Amino acid sequence: MKTGTIHLVGAGPGDPDLLTLRAARLIERARLIVHDGLVDPAILALARPDAKLVSVAKSRARHTLPQDQINALLVREAQSGHDVVRLKGGDPFIFGRGGEEMEAALAAGVPCQVVPGISAANGAAAASGIALTHREDASIVSFVAGQCKGLAEQNWAGLAGQGRTLVIYMGVKTAPGIAEKLMADGLAPDMPLAVVENACRTNMRVLRGPLAGLPDLVEHHAVKSPALIIIGTVTARADTVLSQMLEEKAS
Ligand code: SAH
Repeated sequence: MKTGTIHLVGAGPGDPDLLTLRAARLIERARLIVHDGLVDPAILALARPDAKLVSVAKSRARHTLPQDQINALLVREAQSGHDVVRLKGGDPFIFGRGGEEMEAALAAGVPCQVVPGISAANGAAAASGIALTHREDASIVSFVAGQCKGLAEQNWAGLAGQGRTLVIYMGVKTAPGIAEKLMADGLAPDMPLAVVENACRTNMRVLRGPLAGLPDLVEHHAVKSPALIIIGTVTARADTVLSQMLEEKAS
């Protein structure tokens, strides 16, 4: 029996229009799709009616499939001769554990191919008119995971401030600690930021404020995951751009 291939496919930030053609083709042809919770239902709707969809959603509330069991599931299916589309939100290699799944596949001798996707940072930037490296403001952009343990021990001082844009994934719950830490590391309390919730989805929200106000902003607007925190002067530039973009969309 021929071993199947594991395709690690980036589903982008939400809107199916933002899939790559390769991702769309693989989804439309797949017989087995193993997806995580961030994948928008509109994307799963592209699958064949007889496709088997397996959710391995990571959620705080529910018991979730541990990563080694996800790896084992992918490998088992491929070794039984099935091609597997492993569909992940955004890009598989940006905080998506795609690296671990690729290593598990290769260790088991299973062919693995990776299809890049538009990461949340790129989607959120486009949808909110925040040019992450606007030439006047920033020549460095960093993607950081805000959920990680040991937040306090990390040195984030070099990642934000003059000439730099910081994009924080998975930072909603830890927003107060993040703001405190950045200010302790020397970032100005009035450094502008934006929180982009549900980027590239119909329920997208873009909230703005100064760094010192981040905890209140998140609490007052009851920001929920998935959301990104973008910190830097590029976010202040986007005010007029965003309102124009939204007006054009509405008309
Ligand atoms: N691989 C994904 C990221 C997975 S980590 C990617 O490349 O985008 C999950 C985090 O991504 C969420 O906690 C959130 O911070 C961010 N995220 C994913 N989709 C998002 C969206 N549509 N809007 C805002 N943030 C999003």
